[in-house]
Amino acid sequence: MLEKREYYRLPWSMNDNPIAWIEVTDICNIHCEGCYRQYMTGHKPLEQLKDEVEFFIKWRNPDNFSIAGGEPLLHPQITDLVAYIAHKGVKPIILSNGLALEPKLLHDLKKAGLAGFTMHVDSHQNRPGWKNKTEKDHNALRQHIADMVAAEGGLFLIFNSTVYPETYSEIPDIIRWGQANIRIVQGLVFITYRTATTEDNIATDLKDQQVDLKKLSYTRASFHEHFITAPEVHQIIQDNFPEYEASGYLGGSIRHDSYKWLMGAMIGSPHRMYGSVGKRTMEFAQVGHHLQKGRYLAYLTSSRIGSKIFWLSGWDRMVRRARYQRWMDVLHNPSHLFDGVFVQSIGIIQAPDIQPDGRADMCDSCPDITIYDGKFVNSCRMDEYRLFGGFVSVLGKGKNKAEIEP
Ligand code: SF4
Repeated sequence: MLEKREYYRLPWSMNDNPIAWIEVTDICNIHCEGCYRQYMTGHKPLEQLKDEVEFFIKWRNPDNFSIAGGEPLLHPQITDLVAYIAHKGVKPIILSNGLALEPKLLHDLKKAGLAGFTMHVDSHQNRPGWKNKTEKDHNALRQHIADMVAAEGGLFLIFNSTVYPETYSEIPDIIRWGQANIRIVQGLVFITYRTATTEDNIATDLKDQQVDLKKLSYTRASFHEHFITAPEVHQIIQDNFPEYEASGYLGGSIRHDSYKWLMGAMIGSPHRMYGSVGKRTMEFAQVGHHLQKGRYLAYLTSSRIGSKIFWLSGWDRMVRRARYQRWMDVLHNPSHLFDGVFVQSIGIIQAPDIQPDGRADMCDSCPDITIYDGKFVNSCRMDEYRLFGGFVSVLGKGKNKAEIEP
């Protein structure tokens, strides 16, 4: 059982948050299971996107823009938007499935000022040629993308995967691959799959009219699989990599005991992991970055921190432990001295879950908030606005509308 006092509560809030989430299109070239966006409006005009950038800069104080979709690489003016954001002094990061990525586009994006990519790759994306393959098989695809991005150089790269009940046990295969590629992969993120069911739930809109939940792309008629939680993902990682430990978190908007974001960073080399940073280093990174740059920090732009990370040993016992493991490694394998020391972030995100009373437990200080109709809206629930004019209220399981109305 995780204890919140062992982790640093990330200091992010609605108006001072390192992440600005901007969606350039709702068109995509594949269809991932559980995706919460569906095609309704197409590409946004560049002028509208520039207005959204200004809105975020005014109200959010971001350190980076997560340029999402749909598939952002399909937007015809994606390089113009990247250049516009970079010109504002904020890091543009593209969230992509990588299918449309090719060296010329990559080069143009880099020239426009792109800081890096978060690539979504997992085995439930219905990619042409990748059906019925395991997560381990998908490491070949991750490798292909990582090599292409590394060949361009100067861009950081994070891979995220949705975790389904049936792929939960494959998480260590992804981490093993990530560790071997720690020189060119700066982070891994695991996001737990969520769905809404029409079988148990009845929902109403702001006018108390019943809505058709089937219109949401992530709704299933029935779904009996177990909902994976962030602590369970943390556990399977730790069972396989005892050096791993999270250091920061965001809790839930309703439940005091939920972990919606668990952030950690492993210290290692391509040969082995030495340990993780502790909560004091996480605090140091957040507060130090805010003091220096006036903004909190969401992404490490380089994993090659080197032995400098061990300067924090006197401050953080977890880093001290990692330094000891590093010394032992070099003592037994002197050639490892030349491997370098790297830091790779490992993030876990638990999707919103409906509580027995029908309310959704969201991420406290939602980092992936986006703009809809001039307001901030949790991006994972924006389609409720697009389809029903606002968040829907889900009635408690097993209840029907007649039962709760006076
Ligand atoms: S609440 Fe925010 S951070 Fe959490 S899953 Fe939804 S959009 Fe992402």
